[in-house]
Amino acid sequence: MRVAVDQPMPVQFDYRYALAEPPLVGALVLVPFGRREVVGLICDIVATSDVPAGKLRHVSAICSACAPLSEAWIALAGFAADYYQRGLGEVALPALPQALRDASRWNRLFAVEERFRLRPEGRAQFPDALPARASALRRLAEALGEQPSLGLSDARALHPKASATFDDWLARGWIERADADAGEAATPADPVANVPLPVLTDEQREAVDAISRAQGFAPFLLHGVTGSGKTEVYLHALAGLLGAQPEAQALVLVPEINLTPQFEAVFRARFASLADGAIVTMHSGLAEGERARNWLAAHTGVARIVLGTRLAILASMPKLAMIVVDEEHDPAYKQQEGLRYSARDLAIYRAKQLDIPVVLGSATPSLETWWQAEQGRYTRLTLTRRAVAEAALPSVRLVDLEEERQRGRASVDGLAGPLIAALKARVERGEQSLVFLNRRGYAPILSCDACGWVAGCPRCSAYAVLHKPERALRCHHCGWESRIPKSCPDCGNIDIAPMGRGTQRVEETLASVVPGARVLRIDADSTRRKGSAQALFSDVHAGEVDILVGTQMIAKGHDFRRVTLVGVLNADTALFSHDFRASERLFAQLTQVSGRAGRAGLPGEVLIQTRYPRHALYQALARQDYVGFANSTLAERRDARLPPFVYQAMLRAEGRTLEAALAFLEEAAAAFAPLPGADRVTVYDAVPLTIVKVFNVHRAQLLLESASRAALQASLRAWQPVLRSLKGVLRWNVEVDPLDV
Ligand code: ADP
Ligand code: ZN
Ligand code: ZN
Repeated sequence: MRVAVDQPMPVQFDYRYALAEPPLVGALVLVPFGRREVVGLICDIVATSDVPAGKLRHVSAICSACAPLSEAWIALAGFAADYYQRGLGEVALPALPQALRDASRWNRLFAVEERFRLRPEGRAQFPDALPARASALRRLAEALGEQPSLGLSDARALHPKASATFDDWLARGWIERADADAGEAATPADPVANVPLPVLTDEQREAVDAISRAQGFAPFLLHGVTGSGKTEVYLHALAGLLGAQPEAQALVLVPEINLTPQFEAVFRARFASLADGAIVTMHSGLAEGERARNWLAAHTGVARIVLGTRLAILASMPKLAMIVVDEEHDPAYKQQEGLRYSARDLAIYRAKQLDIPVVLGSATPSLETWWQAEQGRYTRLTLTRRAVAEAALPSVRLVDLEEERQRGRASVDGLAGPLIAALKARVERGEQSLVFLNRRGYAPILSCDACGWVAGCPRCSAYAVLHKPERALRCHHCGWESRIPKSCPDCGNIDIAPMGRGTQRVEETLASVVPGARVLRIDADSTRRKGSAQALFSDVHAGEVDILVGTQMIAKGHDFRRVTLVGVLNADTALFSHDFRASERLFAQLTQVSGRAGRAGLPGEVLIQTRYPRHALYQALARQDYVGFANSTLAERRDARLPPFVYQAMLRAEGRTLEAALAFLEEAAAAFAPLPGADRVTVYDAVPLTIVKVFNVHRAQLLLESASRAALQASLRAWQPVLRSLKGVLRWNVEVDPLDV
């Protein structure tokens, strides 16, 4: 048999087997590999091998309890491996939960768990028959009373001696064993039975109908303004699918882990009549055991809906019948390390492969997707209005900082007068405001006026960011941290001062300029502990916050019902970035954050502080004109021959010195040979990254470009062995369709 293992090599390995049952393609096996044993995936059963018979080693074990991965799934992993220039094993195995990749855990993972349920006799006895102070016993009894049945592992979490206790209670006839299958009700014909549904708007209805009518591969772009009720369209389309096909599964992707609880709650409430375990989540925040359980639920078809972040695109779902990608434009769909895949692009591939519909939803579609729709390859469904009858889109006002200054109107530590006034008015009216800036920490720069010293990270070519509450200087690139110096380390001047502002400083300023306001900050620093983001967001929803200040974490997807004002600070920096995607990202981000205002009927207002109020991007934003922005930006891209009109790949190298990294790239470029007869592939000069040094490693990149995807792909593949033979750098990687160029 031929087995793929997680090794950075595009080859599979042959093994012989002597197993009672013939092995199946897609099954997991434990095989000797070098001096270790590793878990691999059978990807072919072959009668002969190029490996001499004497050297062919035996498979150590096969995971017979786990149904083999389907051919379609292996083909998906194979496509991703091929497209992103990796080996099959490097894609397939990391896509599995850790527990499955550890053969010593197979037995426990697949052991059928004993379950118990309360009998009426027990119900009559509890809790009086239990010793008054036996709180663990009482917890067990309570859990049995609340749930249809209780598994032994959950019971053990409540009481370490649950097993012995259950033996005792079984003997007394208080509880009985629950048949594993008995708890699973057959799927009702109507998965949304008894749930009150909102009346769809005409636009929503048309969108749902179009998706429900779809046959075979059907890519949709659901272009709906913020608050237009895209979620409701997904829910209706899914209800139709799950009702019509009693085994069908659906995959719903969201860009951010913080959005999963909100979605999960909505989905669970809506599909309450589906069996327990029919909705599972998949994201990197799950504990290992839960991740394995949820993965298996999807793999065995018990889970009808998988809700997850980008990694869920590689979930094994044998009955997958529809894919939804919410906020499809979000850069978070791109994995930035290891296998650098785009979950959105793989969603399209997977839908095509399985011949099923895929819905990409966004208020600001990526220009790649918009271009597909313009060409008629994706069906466009448009929601032009907000779903809640009284809710209009917020009005956008540009606050000209230059004009404020000339008129002598003071701004307080970066907050312009009109914004402060608007914030005060909201607090007085008991409405919520949101202040957005994409920079965490207190100030990005700490410097000395006297000698020009600036606090930098000793390991990176970057400034160290001042964090006031943590009383530290921190590097946002490598995690380096130190105490804040009391005086300038170079000249001894004690007047070292922060320059610029981050969320912590704005939080501080807000507390002083809007007295009495309850200010809450949400960013990566304030939500470091697991679950804390959730707690903070619920405070906002509960109305316990007047002004929420934060980074893009607060901009995305949240359905804040009481926010009527959004203030945007520091947006200008992105206007003049050298990255050609910066303006697209800024437009999307500002549209998203603006979309948090006025969602529930009260009119919303957005104030953007800027020095360039006449900039075309802000003007389009103020007109709420995504279409105008998208079409003019696409025209510019076409003229400049940039994606989506050409295809790109990036070779990145990391070396101990910049020279080493550049030399590697130059050698690689010299050895690059476009395939004969194929279209041109342009190889650009090797250049250092903007932040060239991170954690003492120097980084450089080399861009390749072609008008033909096929030509680029083929020459990248031919290039791989050459790259592997080159030396002199610590690491290198190839990224196909890079987002940061
Ligand atoms: P989007 O994802 O398009 O920004 P949401 O799906 O979050 O919008 O919907 C915005 C709000 O509108 C939500 O509170 C949702 O419950 C509500 N909503 C959606 N559709 C309807 C409808 N047909 N009637 C009433 N309210 C709706
Ligand atoms: Zn100094
Ligand atoms: Zn650093």
